[in-house]
Amino acid sequence: VFKDVDMAPPVAVFNLTARYKEDKDPAKVNLGVGAYRTDEGKPWVLPVVRTVESQMAADSTLDHEYLPIAGLKTFTEAATRLALGDDSPALLQNRAGGFQALSGTGALRLGIDFLSRFGKSKTVYVSDPTWPNHMAIGRDAHFTEIKKYRYWDDKTKALNIDGMLEDLRNAPEHSVVILHGCAHNPTGVDPKKEQWEQIAEVMAAKKLFPFFDIAYQGFATGDLDADASSVRLFVKKEFELFVSQSFSKNFGLYNERVGNLAIVTQDNDSLMRVQSQLEKLARPMWSNPPNHGARIVATTLNNPSLFAEWKEAIRTMSSRVISMRALLKQKLKQLNTPGSWDHITDQIGMFSYTGLTSKQVDFIIQKYHVYLMQDGRINMCAVTNSNCDHIAAAIHDAVTS
Ligand code: PMP
Repeated sequence: VFKDVDMAPPVAVFNLTARYKEDKDPAKVNLGVGAYRTDEGKPWVLPVVRTVESQMAADSTLDHEYLPIAGLKTFTEAATRLALGDDSPALLQNRAGGFQALSGTGALRLGIDFLSRFGKSKTVYVSDPTWPNHMAIGRDAHFTEIKKYRYWDDKTKALNIDGMLEDLRNAPEHSVVILHGCAHNPTGVDPKKEQWEQIAEVMAAKKLFPFFDIAYQGFATGDLDADASSVRLFVKKEFELFVSQSFSKNFGLYNERVGNLAIVTQDNDSLMRVQSQLEKLARPMWSNPPNHGARIVATTLNNPSLFAEWKEAIRTMSSRVISMRALLKQKLKQLNTPGSWDHITDQIGMFSYTGLTSKQVDFIIQKYHVYLMQDGRINMCAVTNSNCDHIAAAIHDAVTS
């Protein structure tokens, strides 16, 4: 059985981290994987997470019994409210609910699997460029066509809204469209409010199904409500939709796999039927989801003082990213690095899409031991006051060599 199995190519981002770990150079920096780092370059366990974990450890009433297939209700309800807003018409009309999944990836996979069985189209549209897993998930869920809509304009280093709208206008009816709710990965460029309105209008006309992927709520602006405004606009316009939510980044719970698939339907009866079918899909995959991370998130979201503490931590993370954007741009300007580096501060969220070519990326990795994705994406959270000079020097050298 095994001797005929081909070797699969490595997953780029994990391969980059492995190469970084093997590198012995003391000046090495990993700007690849999308995870938050402190200004000392260390992972950060949010203080509120520590607080809740110690409360949990001391609570002898908690046990390790199985969760229901749909997950921890206090978590899925609070997570769905976080995405849709307390005053969401869909929540008030009992036609929105959640389903716990293995983080954002699991929520996407579950939702796409559902649409592959029950949706009206086998075509899924993803932004060009996008997080590569979107394509892989569509393929593995047996979507026959995985198409790209234009998104990033290389020349203007901004959103190509006309191209995006044209591609959506030409999409077959009922196609699924994956939209990044905020802090687009990898470009850090989001549509403005009027542009979201235009996107919604085209999608309604073509009966396209919006599947929001919101993996960075809080990271775009530091404001949880503002970051979910795209999703809420579509709900207000009475779309039925899915939202995959991840708590990896905004809670720093990367390895706990805390996610929710928020579901908005036209009525309560549809919601019940969809949730029942999701159970049938989740049962043979993971049977029921893990509890630890979901309980941390539920406890925090459902307690006003812990919630306030969490919001403070989000502000700490998002403002550090903003200040590192300004610092990196300033250093490149000081070095007189050719080109405008305004896009570094214009872009939002964890990433900056630098515009560096694949050749320049190789040069930077080899000569400076600064690891970044082949498409020039850098994780701004890994830039610090101490390594910024080194990163700027590497970029400068690559651009001017
Ligand atoms: N969507 C996007 C756009 C992402 O960047 C990520 C994380 N890299 C995810 C979803 C899912 O992450 P996780 O499975 O850790 O929640």
